[in-house]
Amino acid sequence: MLRQSLTAFFAASLLMAAPLAGVEGKWTPRQVLELDPAWLKELGLQMPPEKLWDPNRGTGLLSAAVNIGGCSAGFVSETGLILTNHHCLFGVLQEHSTAQRDLMTHGFLARSPQEELRGRTTRVTVPRRFTDVTKAVLSAVPAGAADLARWEAIEKKQKELVAECEKKPGARCRVAAFDGGVEYVLIESFELDDVRLVYAPPRAIGEYGGEVDNWMWPRHTGDFAVARAYKDGKPYRPEFWFPISRAGVKPGDFVMVLGYPGRTVRSLTAAEMALQRDGFFALRARIYGEWIRLLEESTKDSRDGSIAVAGTLKSLNNVVKNAQGQMAGLARGRIIERQEQQENEVLAWAAQRPEWKPAIDARRELVELAARRRATALRDFLLQSVASGPVALRHAAQLVRLAAERAKPDMEREAQYMERRLPQLKARLERDQKSFYRPADEALLRSWLRHALSLPAGARIRAVDERFRSGSLDDAVARLYAGTRVTDLAERMKMFGETLDQLRARRDSMLDLALALEPELRAFDRAGREHEGAISRLRPVWRRAVAAHAGKPVAPDANGTLRVSFAHVKGYSPREAVEYLPQTTLAGMIEKHTGEEPFALPKALLEAAAKTEPVKVPLNFLADADTTGGNSGSPTVNGRGELVGLNFDRVWENVANDFGYNPAIARNVNADIRFFLWLLEHVDHAGSLLRELGVQDR
Ligand code: ASP
Repeated sequence: MLRQSLTAFFAASLLMAAPLAGVEGKWTPRQVLELDPAWLKELGLQMPPEKLWDPNRGTGLLSAAVNIGGCSAGFVSETGLILTNHHCLFGVLQEHSTAQRDLMTHGFLARSPQEELRGRTTRVTVPRRFTDVTKAVLSAVPAGAADLARWEAIEKKQKELVAECEKKPGARCRVAAFDGGVEYVLIESFELDDVRLVYAPPRAIGEYGGEVDNWMWPRHTGDFAVARAYKDGKPYRPEFWFPISRAGVKPGDFVMVLGYPGRTVRSLTAAEMALQRDGFFALRARIYGEWIRLLEESTKDSRDGSIAVAGTLKSLNNVVKNAQGQMAGLARGRIIERQEQQENEVLAWAAQRPEWKPAIDARRELVELAARRRATALRDFLLQSVASGPVALRHAAQLVRLAAERAKPDMEREAQYMERRLPQLKARLERDQKSFYRPADEALLRSWLRHALSLPAGARIRAVDERFRSGSLDDAVARLYAGTRVTDLAERMKMFGETLDQLRARRDSMLDLALALEPELRAFDRAGREHEGAISRLRPVWRRAVAAHAGKPVAPDANGTLRVSFAHVKGYSPREAVEYLPQTTLAGMIEKHTGEEPFALPKALLEAAAKTEPVKVPLNFLADADTTGGNSGSPTVNGRGELVGLNFDRVWENVANDFGYNPAIARNVNADIRFFLWLLEHVDHAGSLLRELGVQDR
């Protein structure tokens, strides 16, 4: 398990490895305390590890790294200022943009607290306590339980633990499973739901290079934004925050990246990895790629339309390029083949040890499960994308599910529809109005239906077949939108409180489609739970064998919980005969400027740059931190805990590190804090913000 002798391992690895070799591992707070302090010091940590995390008090410098809606962020002042990526707060800019006042394009600076802009759905969670609840969770599973019953027992126990934990005022809790259930940890955080935008640069800076440069190096993007958390109407005062370093970094310097990596799949078997590639990333690239084209086409003549779909388009672009990178990296690094080879070694090792026989069986079952899921991959992908695809269908499906779940006692509902989650759901249903543009939504739904109608026999969606198999699809979709009021904000908010009977009685075309889909969506969710139940039974058995065979500790796969990665500022070689340096500057940014998007810098920046030596303003830098999606906005700090930058991306060659870490190409991309300070001072003349950040004399 995780708590194997980390100290012994790291002491040994110190002797073997050069101290600057890349270090795999997104370590949990507890693991940090189990690592050898001498090794950490050797790497460059200049404080006792207990300063990072004190489990007794449930706090430490790590608690200054917070979660902000799927991104990471860091407190940077005692007055609740939070630094994160521009792309993480893009939704707030979109929320407050109108055709007349387009904050996404022009950026935003609050000259006083009164001008700050609240993000209706933006929440910050600050971690407080991590408790191992593996025993409690597993002992809730009845002996010999079938997989679905197993899932239900685990889910029930988790809900009880969460409910108990949330009795504490302000507490927000979750139980996180590590590597499919090798360990379960109860995480107590507290949530700040009043978060206001303070500063964001123009899109031309915050997203400089756009899709051309996304996931690329050399990079020149000012991916910064500032928000402020409030509590009881007053600026929140965090116990810990990261002081800003004006000194910055240079090649070879030690850095730590602290944040909330979302999901990696390194603990999967090779067969499951292959399914992830073919049944997930390949479909994402194909279908979402098509959706990007549809959104662009359907909004090209409309300013309002472009604003409405901006956020969706941005995330689809990011996801599609990521999917392409994952597939390219898998092939290039032969990651799946290597995983298979390692698996075979473990199998051969286990075959000679009767006590590990269950692991051999577990692995075989995991492989069989993956094979069975292949047959329905496209159908599963489409059903899954109801929750993230066309806005109108998503809303209708959510309203139907909400009505059904609300009829049950709170503890028996699906976790997303428990009372504690409803305010957030409601706020999202409201905010989404900003993302709705009918021609674009219709185009996406047509595409979704067309794919559904192309499904192979044996994996079809009945509700779609019954309604759309004959006649013109275009006409049918037009009728759907003409006959629904789900897209009307006021009406939708009324629906939020209605029962299933009331929703049915409305005879609303989109609600009717969602009602017809509901049994199949339910069956799909049920199959997903059964699968998860099986995974929780099998994965830990297999992973324990892998760990025992390796004889060294392994940091668990990312699961959206707080982690820290130890790294150094470092370049890399993307291909033969090419060596990348790890830092870029304002000079390179200007060199890329063509005046055409996405390389069209604002005049104010060009003028300010003309008055300085641009090569002296560091802009982005690389490090060999072990990061993934969700790490965006992660504070990148030096050995003293001072903030030197923000993680915002990985390089193209390293996108597939979700499947496996390769020290030669494992590079994350950071925005250098010195560019941010230069921008605030010389372009935005944001003296009071700089003073508040403690980097300009009062
Ligand atoms: N850009 C990613 C994010 O938004 C970070 C990454 O995938 O490396 O979290």
